[in-house]
Amino acid sequence: MPALIALLGPDAVANDADTLAFHSQDLMTEGAIPLAVARPGRTAQMAALVQFAKDRRLALYPRGGGMSYSRAFPPETRAAIVVDFSRLNAIRSVNRVDGHVTVEAGCTWAQLDTELARHGLRSRFWGPMSGGTATIGGSLSNGSVTFGSGDVGASANSVKSFEIVTGTGAVIHTGSDGAGCDHPFNRAFGPDLTGLFAHDCGALGIKTAVTLEVEPRPALVDGLSFASNDFGQMCALLRSVAEQRLASEIIAMDAEVARQNAGPPRLWADLKALAGIGLVSGNPLTAVRRMAHVALAGRGFLDKALYTLHFVVEARDADERRSRLRAIRRLAGDCAEIVNTVPLATRANPFPDLPVTHPDGRRMLPIHGLFAWSQVADFHLAYVQWKAARAQALAARGVTVAEFFAVVAGIGILYEPVFYWADSLRLFHERRTPGWLRASLPRHAENPEARALVQESVDQLVALMADHRASHFQIGRLYPYQQRHEEGRGELLRALKHQLDPDNICNPGALGL
Ligand SMILES: Cc1cc2nc3c(=O)[nH]c(=O)nc-3n(C[C@H](O)[C@H](O)[C@H](O)COP(=O)(O)OP(=O)(O)OC[C@H]3O[C@@H](n4cnc5c(N)ncnc54)[C@H](O)[C@@H]3O)c2cc1C
Repeated sequence: MPALIALLGPDAVANDADTLAFHSQDLMTEGAIPLAVARPGRTAQMAALVQFAKDRRLALYPRGGGMSYSRAFPPETRAAIVVDFSRLNAIRSVNRVDGHVTVEAGCTWAQLDTELARHGLRSRFWGPMSGGTATIGGSLSNGSVTFGSGDVGASANSVKSFEIVTGTGAVIHTGSDGAGCDHPFNRAFGPDLTGLFAHDCGALGIKTAVTLEVEPRPALVDGLSFASNDFGQMCALLRSVAEQRLASEIIAMDAEVARQNAGPPRLWADLKALAGIGLVSGNPLTAVRRMAHVALAGRGFLDKALYTLHFVVEARDADERRSRLRAIRRLAGDCAEIVNTVPLATRANPFPDLPVTHPDGRRMLPIHGLFAWSQVADFHLAYVQWKAARAQALAARGVTVAEFFAVVAGIGILYEPVFYWADSLRLFHERRTPGWLRASLPRHAENPEARALVQESVDQLVALMADHRASHFQIGRLYPYQQRHEEGRGELLRALKHQLDPDNICNPGALGL
């Protein structure tokens, strides 16, 4: 510890029990308690920390906002340092002419969006729903979706260059900035080294900064919602809207997940929420109409059908908005249109202080698979059969499973079963429960039987997804990756890991490496 403090400074190192425990937990997992949490404030300090870890044979577990839930950063050994990026969070430069921003890894998506808004700009992929806490370094190491994904696709597509500290302590830049151009304007000057580090879980190196492509903010935002009882009909509509790039965010969910996302009923009476819904319209008359519409509709729409589908539509002007809305309605055919509260509320406050439990205090755990459109129906059938076969066992332990879907343009559909069960909360939940919910959140007793059943169910579903050729984001230590590679490709990946991190100190075990 004194040596680490001497290296980084006293404010940059913590080893009190509370901090160590909190930084070793995610939504589901309690990792080994590390020796310290280190907070480098500059790239050079990160490189020095790598050398420090190499010399002492310690593992480094990078942790951004800690909002992933696939055992992606909780340490597996006590001979470990958790790297926290909260002091490495500056926005280094905004370059409007060349269309990019360079930002340090610990900056949150909310922080970046607020700064870019001052320039009338936005990152092309602009964050997950957890972006109030999730960091740019964490999301781009995980692989993330949501804001912009109906058009741009996954988070990696927005990146022009990474600044990486490798496991040897070297600092490299992966775009044209690392290839003699002195400027990160071209991601792939020759082979795409940037892509190599995108969605790598930090197993190939530590991101200290990222250059993202930016675009002008849209003038108008609107939304449409529909209800359907038919999975095939839902997928057909989601796919055709994505194919034509008509919506910037495209999500769908069953009624249980919709209620969880909506929060407690009083939220919908909250004038601030309604005002936000009005504000995204960009026009006072439309704002009043929208607020009245949403307030009158209340939350009843959440129970309308098996699935609700939600599209956020952006436009340069009223003509473009009308044209996009008309096109989506035409594609929707006989799907029932419902009140558009979800898309409007999503954009009224894109980065809210989200609960990490069900509002009734039950624990939650989402998992997911990414499917090609042509393969999702087969998986859905197998999933429904799995759910029917497990129904009794799950009910006996009070475990429920609901489904959320998100479209990732250019890839397909993210299918996300979410488990809920009554159980005691961990330090992670206590700290991450938003203020508006903390006092009223019901508490449940320790429930190891239900938790074990959830874990067993997760393992079964992960295997079922692999059988149905799913791919994944936030691979961490949950989803099989290295194990699924064809032979030559697996060797290539191992060789890269060895070259970049010969002592295996960068998030050892992530990606199966
Ligand atoms: C309520 C809630 C809502 C969510 N909504 C979404 C959503 O809309 N879309 C979505 O895709 N996901 C969502 N998630 C999942 C998760 O929040 C995202 O994947 C998010 O991008 C994780 O970012 P983070 O900074 O918290 O990363 P962390 O969880 O801290 O880390 C993720 C991975 O990146 C590595 N890492 C972190 N920082 C670095 C770095 N600087 N260099 C190298 N490796 C690093 C870690 O070791 C780990 O492997 C949600 C989660 C919750 C709990």
